[in-house]
Amino acid sequence: MADTLIDVKDLRIHFFTDEGVVRAVGGVDLAITRGKTLALVGESGCGKSVACRALLNIVHRPGKIVSGEIIFHRMFHQSSGSGSDASVDIAELNPKGREIRDIRGKEIAMIFQEPMTSFSSMYTIGNQIMENILLHTNLSKQEARILTIELLDKVGIPKPSRLIDEYPFRLSGGMRQRAMIAMALSCSPTLLIADEPTTALDVTTQANILDLMQNLQKQYEMTLLFITHDLGVVAEIADEVAVMYLGKIIEKSDVFTLFNSPAHPYTQALLKSVPKIAMTREALDPIKGMVPNPYSRPSGCPFHPRCPKAFAACKTIVPKTTSLGLHHTVQCLLYEDVTERQATEALS
Ligand code: SF4
Repeated sequence: MADTLIDVKDLRIHFFTDEGVVRAVGGVDLAITRGKTLALVGESGCGKSVACRALLNIVHRPGKIVSGEIIFHRMFHQSSGSGSDASVDIAELNPKGREIRDIRGKEIAMIFQEPMTSFSSMYTIGNQIMENILLHTNLSKQEARILTIELLDKVGIPKPSRLIDEYPFRLSGGMRQRAMIAMALSCSPTLLIADEPTTALDVTTQANILDLMQNLQKQYEMTLLFITHDLGVVAEIADEVAVMYLGKIIEKSDVFTLFNSPAHPYTQALLKSVPKIAMTREALDPIKGMVPNPYSRPSGCPFHPRCPKAFAACKTIVPKTTSLGLHHTVQCLLYEDVTERQATEALS
């Protein structure tokens, strides 16, 4: 069985608007390891949610996957108990076709920040969870109802046999998020994508939901892709971390390396801007400047207008991915031989 569950290669997603083209994802390379938790971190608008939606091929117009590959290494279980491997390029699939509809909700499931945008307020949570089960399995309606009650119980919803018939708007935010997790787990997905699932919750509920997700990940042997801008959550949940800035993965490593020896000036600035106990408000060290206008990306390194370590070449040369060790990569000219790059580019 391949160690890599999803291999994203040079993924580019553009939005074609009346004002111009927004390059929301500009050449992302990312390998998601089977059974691990990968946290995708970055400021709002850096392209992390769009990149993750592409894993389900749900980039809506005016957005479009313009190039790149999303290789999903699927695992089919045979009656003998053994498994067989098959790979599919999700970027190549028809977004409305049979194959991607088989994958969505069954092999790859997603939970969102605000469950009310995913649940319809017109149907009970039980109806909506059962619909997913009936779509992807051969269970009868009665069996699907029993499974739904079991799932609601597993995610900590009290009196599940009664609450299965409740409408989403009658539940609290924490309970709705638990119901959303139950729906995502209903077909035992290989990959669960969680898009800021705890951002809208208070800290106590947030801690409970994180614990729940970690326990369920072990029980279901799932791979977890966790999108967040909260480094506290990353430290709690992640095995590996990818930091995104303006549509690119600018640093990736295991969680310990990232927190102990961050290499990219943006990652260093992100970590410095996290408030610590005993810090005064004045001592906070925010990242200078603003995220650039999406219609006019800076030339060279996209972080150069805000980077405290920028030098002349940063305005013109786009950094390449440099390996700093096992599973630790960075995109920054501080780790490249800039003179050699300038000489090569002058010749070409
Ligand atoms: Fe800063 Fe230059 Fe590195 Fe970009 S390439 S992060 S501007 S030092």
